[in-house]
Amino acid sequence: MKAVPFFEHGSADVLQYREDFPDPVAGKGSVIVDIEYCGVNHLDIWTRQGIAGKKIRLPHVCGCDIVGTVGEKRVMVYPGVSCGKCAYCRAGRENLCSQFAIIGGMSDHDGGYAEMAAVPAKNIVRLPDSIKSKVAATLGVSYLVAWNMLRTNGAGKGKTVLVYGATSGVGMATIQLTRALGAEVITTVSGREKYEFAKKLGARHVIDRTTQNIAEETKKITDDKGVDIVIDHVGAATWPTSISALKQGGRMAVCGMTSGNDAIVPVRMFYSKQITMTGALLGTKAQLIELVNFMGRKKIQPVIDSVFELRDAKEAQKKMEANSHAGKILLRC
Ligand SMILES: [Zn+2]
Repeated sequence: MKAVPFFEHGSADVLQYREDFPDPVAGKGSVIVDIEYCGVNHLDIWTRQGIAGKKIRLPHVCGCDIVGTVGEKRVMVYPGVSCGKCAYCRAGRENLCSQFAIIGGMSDHDGGYAEMAAVPAKNIVRLPDSIKSKVAATLGVSYLVAWNMLRTNGAGKGKTVLVYGATSGVGMATIQLTRALGAEVITTVSGREKYEFAKKLGARHVIDRTTQNIAEETKKITDDKGVDIVIDHVGAATWPTSISALKQGGRMAVCGMTSGNDAIVPVRMFYSKQITMTGALLGTKAQLIELVNFMGRKKIQPVIDSVFELRDAKEAQKKMEANSHAGKILLRC
């Protein structure tokens, strides 16, 4: 089959387009998905670069946002795999399983930069007619983790949410889902040209981080009170701002660290405001099904920045690394 594996970790140039990559074999309990689209995520870049001390089988095919068909059925793939037996798995909290891994991520499960993938049958989610395939290819990672964080932290009417990076996958997902849940959104962009993008998505207030101080602006917007919830996928660069922007008793939801792992925490402010912090790794399959239904019911349309052909996967990742996109990048497989 056609696929874009990598044989060693490194820059985007290690991605190799192959027309004769071995077809996947469906083991016990697995099915073969004929892939139509695969969303591109930061996770793909981290996986391709490799994580120090973590080994995966090579060659590896990345891509966690898989949409396609199994026989006649239109499906998407829940990207989390787990043991299926522990107390968390049995309770439907599989992302807490000690063996939790992500298909196409830092695991031995090949992902969606290919014409086909073998995935556990239990990971298949049927798509309703209301969800187009391109939309579905945006949901399994960034929309799912945003949904998980918003639900876990009680986003709803009367609440204000701050999220960084309106043009990123998690940023866009958070803005659209927060609005649909009835809460208000403050977001950040870099540069004036991305301002309109953020407004169109539904952000009430847009802060240009290149010229404005995020914590100060947030205080002004909220009459000095601070926001109820911060969605932080940026990490080291934003943790002090997040804690400073929260109101008394506010909640900080963390799902990533694109700017780095080692954050400085203003500890006194953290405990005196009595902040609750929650971590989120993807979400559960039950949350994905809930999200798919919510997207269809609310008619939410994610912005697709660009669709690349499978053979151009390298260019797709380079575009994401250059941060020149606004919205999701997809591969047509
Ligand atoms: Zn388990």
